[in-house]
Formats: sequence, structure tokens, C-alpha cells
Amino acid sequence: MKMIVAAAFAFVAVSAGALNLVPQPVSVKETGGELKFEGEIAKLAAYSVDSSIPKEGYRLSVTKDGVKVSSSDEAGRFYAEQTLAALVVTKEVPPTKKGEKKTVETSLPCVEIYDYPRYPWRGVHLDECRHFFGKETVKALLDLMAMHKLNRFHWHLTEDQGWRVDVPGYPELVKYGAVRSASVLHGKRASSGSKINADRLNGVKYGPYFYTEADLREIVDYAAKRHIQIVPEIELPGHVYAALAAYPEFACNPENLAERDPRLVWGIEKDVLCIGNDKAIKFMEDVLDWVCKVFPGDVVHIGGDECPNVRWKTCPKCQARIKAEGLGDEHGLQPWITRHFVKFLEARGKRAIGWDEYLLGDVPKSAIGMSWRERSASGAGHKLVSGAAAAERGHDVVMTPCSYCYLDYTQGLKEDPFFYIGGKVTLERCYSFDPCAGVPDGAKSHILGGQGNNWTEYTWNEYDLAWKLWPRMCALAEVFWLGEKKPGFDDFKRRIKAHRAKLVAAGVNCAPLE
Ligand SMILES: [Zn+2]
Repeated sequence: MKMIVAAAFAFVAVSAGALNLVPQPVSVKETGGELKFEGEIAKLAAYSVDSSIPKEGYRLSVTKDGVKVSSSDEAGRFYAEQTLAALVVTKEVPPTKKGEKKTVETSLPCVEIYDYPRYPWRGVHLDECRHFFGKETVKALLDLMAMHKLNRFHWHLTEDQGWRVDVPGYPELVKYGAVRSASVLHGKRASSGSKINADRLNGVKYGPYFYTEADLREIVDYAAKRHIQIVPEIELPGHVYAALAAYPEFACNPENLAERDPRLVWGIEKDVLCIGNDKAIKFMEDVLDWVCKVFPGDVVHIGGDECPNVRWKTCPKCQARIKAEGLGDEHGLQPWITRHFVKFLEARGKRAIGWDEYLLGDVPKSAIGMSWRERSASGAGHKLVSGAAAAERGHDVVMTPCSYCYLDYTQGLKEDPFFYIGGKVTLERCYSFDPCAGVPDGAKSHILGGQGNNWTEYTWNEYDLAWKLWPRMCALAEVFWLGEKKPGFDDFKRRIKAHRAKLVAAGVNCAPLE
């Protein structure tokens, strides 16, 4: 995924009369004719504030006389500029006499557009722990997100296999947590205990790979300029093995971490944070306190998924905590730590978000759910029960069900050089996603939106990542922008063909449509 910016599209020809916008605006009317222009299009537009336009929405008018943009906020103005950039038509004009050079003519089709998003949360997630991509790839992703009017970058920064941020006061985190002694061999699967899968490891040191505070601030600033809020994720109380490799004393059984090596294979790790240890909790508080200062957004992700409680069962400290707090048994520990950190973040002006599992038990309604599971014992009578049930209970929810939104699942292409975790999420499947499916009418206002998730166990570099992201993320972007107003897959397919050609011409390693 090479660096490209919206302006790069000015150099790509699109045929006049076929706008091929992705996401499609809510209302678009071609009025005939064109506006020829030179220079930067954004500077051509006469801008005015119109408080009647919904948040992030805009009105855009291109006539032969000029361009007018109105919006109620800066994000709306920014999205109007993205649409303008996508509308630009570039034509080569051949010379008319000897000695003359060919010239390039730029124009905009005359249009009237009124546009605003269905959902306030239109996200892309990236796991930089299983594999690390780095600043330039992240910036290129943010550019492409802006172009598709996506506004939340969920940055998965800590995991069993890697800890990717340098937190002041905890130098061992990057010394031990940001480097692992081996990785799973490319094209092989390995997800249980590291000893069992030793024959599937490559023996090659991976890292150290991590971001400094200065790197993070640089990317926060880069995202803000594109109206993208970064949602940092610090996983707890499970998926913390890399942190435990750095500080074994924060585990129930420190002797399991004697090698000081993050987890080498994928899958679910049994060694998790010792919730009975006040120092382990203080450690997470210090990390989250720092995260709150570095990331200005109003939401912090605290993970909460796939946390086995087997170590807590036999840990004297955890058992003492259960007794002291009257939590019943080890099932009470995760809701207890979730309540603790929901309140901790609230005291710092932030809302907590976490994966489905962290909403189990008695958790404050202010906690936002991020729903990825599709089956549960109880629910609203639909497959997407986890998120729907949470919305019914009064939690705000971001919908990211794996069978629609997991971009590490197979695309179903005729030919595909890349390796996937499994499953099947085709372009059409992405486009068919409805974040409100199965949610009772009275709870639909709790659905904040959705997100495409990029888990990277089997995604090794930026080319692999771009291929898995695009064009499926284009389909999800349209779902999040238009919601129930999306025009149907046939219409999308016609537009995505031309849109994909633009992405490819701009250097994006975009997968084919089938
Ligand atoms: Zn413990």
C-alpha cells in the first residue's frame, strides 16, 4: 500500500457521465455540463455554514459558474472535498499544430449532492501485534480511510504475541514484549501451546517493533487532519502475554513466563493478568492513564475477549480477591476488573469500549460493546445476538460480526496468492451487512455503526494487508455511510469496478472483484 492522497485521484481519468462514487452519496443529481478548472479544487469552492445539515454531512453544488459547499461542521466540509476529489475528470488534449505539446484538462461534472452518514462510527481495525506494519503503512491506511469517509481507526496495540507501545516507567515492555524469538511459518497454522507447535515455527527473531510516544502523537495528528479518531486498544485481562513476558510478576504463575518471550503461536493463551495482584492492576492503570493523555479521542478500547479463568481458579491472590470483594467465584473477576476500568476511564473523560465478552456480568451501561460473535445462549432471535442483546440491555454497540466484517477471512476469489485464517467473507457478503439486523426497533439507536477488522496472524506485510482490505472495505464503507439507503449490490458492483481501477492506478494492492 503506497502513500497516496486524495489529490492523487486528480490524475486518474474517469469517464464523464458515470460518477462511480464510493460510498455513493445519499442524493446525487447530474445536472449536465461541466466546470473546467485549474489548480486545487478545494480552493475553488465557496464555503458556507448551514446548521440544518446533519453532522459530518454536506451539500455540494457544481455548476458551470463554480463550486459551492455547505456543512454544519468541519468534518462535513472535509467530506465534501473528498467527494470533489473523486469527481475530478482528467482529459489529455492532443496538440493541434506542429511544435505544440499535449495538455491536460481537468473538469468537474455539474452535480447537486446532498450527503450525510447513517452511522457515526465507521471504523477500520488493525492488529499490529501479530504482525507489525509501521508508521508509513498506517498513514497510507488513514489516507484511504479518509477517501472512503471512514472515521474511526481502532488500533490493536497489545497482544499475547507483541506489545507495541513504549510506556514511560515500564522499559521492560518493549525490551521483552516488542520482540519474539520466532513466528509461525508463513502458510502454516499453529494456534495451541508453543511447545506442541515447535515444528511450525520459523526460528527467526521478530522485532523489536514498537511505537514511541512521539510516533503515536505524529499519527494522532495525521489522523485528526483527516477527521479520523484513533481508538487505541490495550487488551485486558486476557491477551496480555507479551506484557507478562516483560513483567512475569503480574501473572498468577510467574514461573510460566521464565523465558521472557511473548507467545509464539496464535490462539487463546491461558496465562492472563493476575487480578488478585494490586501491582498488576496499578500497572494497567499507569498504562491506561498514559494512553488517555496520548490519544485525545473520547473512547479507549480495553479488549476483554477470550480470557480463560483457569489460572485464577488456583491462584491464592485471585481467590483472596474473590473473597474480599464477594465475587462468588472466578467468573466474577472479569466483570469486577471491567467495572474498575470503565470507572477509571470515566474519571479521565473517556468511555470504555470492549469486545462482547467484557459486557458479561454486572457492567455499567456507559460501557460500549464491540460485537464480533454471532452465537450466544440468549438474544434477540437473530444470529448477531451478542451485539443485539447488549443493545437491548442498554449498551451502545459497534457491530463487527466476524462473518461480515473480518477481513482476514477468505475472499472467495478465483485466484488468490494470500493465506487466510479461514471462513469466507466475499465482497457481496460485506455489502449485504446490516449493522441493525436482529436489533429490536427500540434498541436500534444504540447501534453506533460498524467496523472492518484486520487480524494479522496470517497477514505478513502491507501488500497482503491492502489485498485483504480493499475492495471489501469499500463495501463496508458504503454500508456504514448509507445504512438502509444503500442501493443494492448490482449498483455497487458497477461503481466499484471503476473505483477499483482508480485504487490500482494510485498504487493500492487492491484485490480483484471476483
Ligand atoms: Zn492471580
